[in-house]
Amino acid sequence: MSNVVVLGSGIVGLYTVWSLITEAKVKPSKIVVIGEHLPGDLSINYTSPWAGGNFSCISPNDADTLSFDKFTYTNVAKIQKVLGGPSCGLDMKPSTEFWDEYPGDAKINSLKGYLKDFKVVPSSELPAGTAFGITFTTWNFNCPLFLANFRTYLEKTGVSFRRQKLTHISQAYLPHTVAVFNCTGIGAFSLSGVKDSKVYPTRGQVLVVKAPHIQENRMRWGADYATYIIPRPNSGGKLILGGFLQKDNWTGDTFEEETKDIIKRTTELMPKILDQPLEILAVAAGLRPSRHGGVRIEAEKVEEKLLIHNYGASGYGYQAGLGMGHKAVQLFQTTGKVSAKL
Ligand SMILES: Cc1cc2nc3c(=O)[nH]c(=O)nc-3n(C[C@H](O)[C@H](O)[C@H](O)COP(=O)(O)OP(=O)(O)OC[C@H]3O[C@@H](n4cnc5c(N)ncnc54)[C@H](O)[C@@H]3O)c2cc1C
Repeated sequence: MSNVVVLGSGIVGLYTVWSLITEAKVKPSKIVVIGEHLPGDLSINYTSPWAGGNFSCISPNDADTLSFDKFTYTNVAKIQKVLGGPSCGLDMKPSTEFWDEYPGDAKINSLKGYLKDFKVVPSSELPAGTAFGITFTTWNFNCPLFLANFRTYLEKTGVSFRRQKLTHISQAYLPHTVAVFNCTGIGAFSLSGVKDSKVYPTRGQVLVVKAPHIQENRMRWGADYATYIIPRPNSGGKLILGGFLQKDNWTGDTFEEETKDIIKRTTELMPKILDQPLEILAVAAGLRPSRHGGVRIEAEKVEEKLLIHNYGASGYGYQAGLGMGHKAVQLFQTTGKVSAKL
């Protein structure tokens, strides 16, 4: 018997399940996760396996997103712990971020309040063309491995996973369902009953290379580009090189000229990548589920039952998604006043 359905098995859906269990105290056996794609799958309509993925300064500076980032950074260790420690695909590594223009006080003041080992890079050490830089210790995800381990853990606690493509949000309501969490990512654009025209893709192409000698992150943010180097924990030395932020580009194809551009930018940013011959293991593209106006975390009633939307995490689902799940579950508790019955 399912009382709560989480539609979507990407990182936002899994974080939401975690928040339901740990914060609203919903019994795992009362939760069903439905997804066309589940951990282990690869599809251009399933963004989570394609992420870099680390905690970085990619997210916008509004108060909500800053609080989602902070909540995730400071609480995700609890998930790492129950999943068995760093080998689950979540570890901490050093990071350096540079900006061509100062990112603003809102961002920096927020980050310096909680990032481990936060330091501003002295201006004499900034690379040519950059205006500001910070170093800190960050979270690095091995996204496919972390998703798989997170699912296995949740299944062991009693959560059910069901593969099903829905054509209308109403199909998510099973007998006895009191609430549905809509965590469909880019799918929110086309799912009937939701069809959110504010949702759009921000395409990114990445390279997976073998570079066990690189164990630190480095990012550079420009007005119209993002260059990033992200080691993948517990992967036998894989390194993610990126990237692109292409709005409204729906293609999952990859392009040789983008590969060359990524290699040029990342090896300029970190020349020691080329201390070993560059071995490209994979070239991939993913669609960040962006949304005009930012993430949608909202509750509504559908035939006296709760529908709680939780999507639109764009390029920050891993680093902000636990905070999003926390807020969505708070809405469930305050709007639905149903958690005590589950
Ligand atoms: C190249 C790239 C690099 C990135 N790097 C980072 C990073 O370093 N750090 C970071 O935090 N984020 C990063 N991201 C962003 C991150 O990947 C996304 O924010 C996150 O994966 C979104 O997760 P989601 O759960 O909302 O969506 P998804 O992972 O797409 O999951 C959606 C779920 O909903 C299901 N679904 C959708 N429609 C339906 C339907 N009609 N019926 C049934 N099921 C449906 C899908 O099958 C799936 O299970 C990156 C993304 C890309 C593309």
